[in-house]
Amino acid sequence: MFKIFRTGLMLAATYQLAAFPTFAQPVEGRQPVSGYAKPVAYPNANVAAVSASFNRARKIAGDDLYTYFDTLCIQDQLYKQRTNGAQYDGVIPAQKVFDNLYYIGQMSVSAWAVKTPQGIIVIDALNNADEARDIMEAGLIGVGLDPKDVKYVVITHSHGDHYGGAQYFKDKYGAKLVASAADWDVMAKPSFFDKIRKFDVAPKRGADDLTVVDGQVLSLGGEDIHFAVTPAHTPGTLSLYFKVTDNGAPHLAGMYGGIGMPRTDDLKLLQLQSMAHWADVAKAALAKASQRGVKFLLPVDDVVAVPVKTDKLDKKGKAVIDYQNARVSTDMNCPDDAAGLDIGPASAKAFSDEVATAKTILWNGPMGLFEDKRFAEGTNAVARAVAEATQKSGAKSIIGGGDSVKALNKAKLGDKVTFMSTGGGASLEFLEGQVLPGVAALSDK
Ligand SMILES: [Zn+2]
Repeated sequence: MFKIFRTGLMLAATYQLAAFPTFAQPVEGRQPVSGYAKPVAYPNANVAAVSASFNRARKIAGDDLYTYFDTLCIQDQLYKQRTNGAQYDGVIPAQKVFDNLYYIGQMSVSAWAVKTPQGIIVIDALNNADEARDIMEAGLIGVGLDPKDVKYVVITHSHGDHYGGAQYFKDKYGAKLVASAADWDVMAKPSFFDKIRKFDVAPKRGADDLTVVDGQVLSLGGEDIHFAVTPAHTPGTLSLYFKVTDNGAPHLAGMYGGIGMPRTDDLKLLQLQSMAHWADVAKAALAKASQRGVKFLLPVDDVVAVPVKTDKLDKKGKAVIDYQNARVSTDMNCPDDAAGLDIGPASAKAFSDEVATAKTILWNGPMGLFEDKRFAEGTNAVARAVAEATQKSGAKSIIGGGDSVKALNKAKLGDKVTFMSTGGGASLEFLEGQVLPGVAALSDK
């Protein structure tokens, strides 16, 4: 998984790989320069090819992934002990990374939580049950999630620092464990990880646990986790991608399951093949996402108020409701005593911005209780955006529904849209492909 490296090592690699100088005898008592580390020296290096690859990798890494470049391309190839020394256990606070993705790992190894409406999918489980309890479980609680909701723990690969805490979630919360067949096999056998006290023993596959294959999808609460099998780091390393949103804006998150380069030539080649496979999977996923290209905006804030029954009666003889303490709320959970009565200003802006880019607009239903001016601004903002897109950008705007028509007319924008129909439900049914008897009769003539 993604690891966070802190390193104080400064490597003077120029990526041009000039030949090393010949070393003279040192002054008495000093360490000879000939004995210094040579972090860019590779046995039997094809200097031109290595230089070209180094430069490409350096460019791709940019500033934000420099430590990966340093660790994977330089240190790890020759100085395993330095890499290991740079990767140390440390506690960092759990945090929300996307609207539905949380970091619940520690410093040297990561763990993640994907929130869905029907439970949580955890990705990787750190070193042992202590870390599962004190870092992951505590982290979930810290970011406002309930550990009882953990339904699955995905083990990306069969190394002690990824499966160590998995059994804890299985025992305590009945979570199902997810791994590839090849890595379940590895975990079934004794390994050197068993001898290191830091790691808890590998979980054994139970009847409820899942074995996933390349291309498989795990679905929970409308969230799909797509798996690719990318062997090399371990025989059945899993990589995965899934949808995330950032303040409502959609993205795809991809995680390569075992990024550390193996040490034998055969496995290095296999890692390159797996990375190429992952690149194909990622490209296909991105192509599919952009094909659909559908943005689905949900409100990020709303106007809430406390409904209070009054003694007054309306025309139908029902008690008139007075709404008190109207205010903007950015809490996604509506307060218990309040009702959501309009979208908030941030949502109104996001919706309006999107409308401004549209060529065809179908609007069906107001944003809130626009009859009360305290709750009309969301509807009015969208109405202004629709009118402006129609007038200035030539968008076709079709307004369906008596309430929407009333709202537009109230805002004096009724003549600024392309078409208005009071039949809101009927227009939706028509778009669904249902036959409307009145329209059918007209079309037949
Ligand atoms: Zn590993």
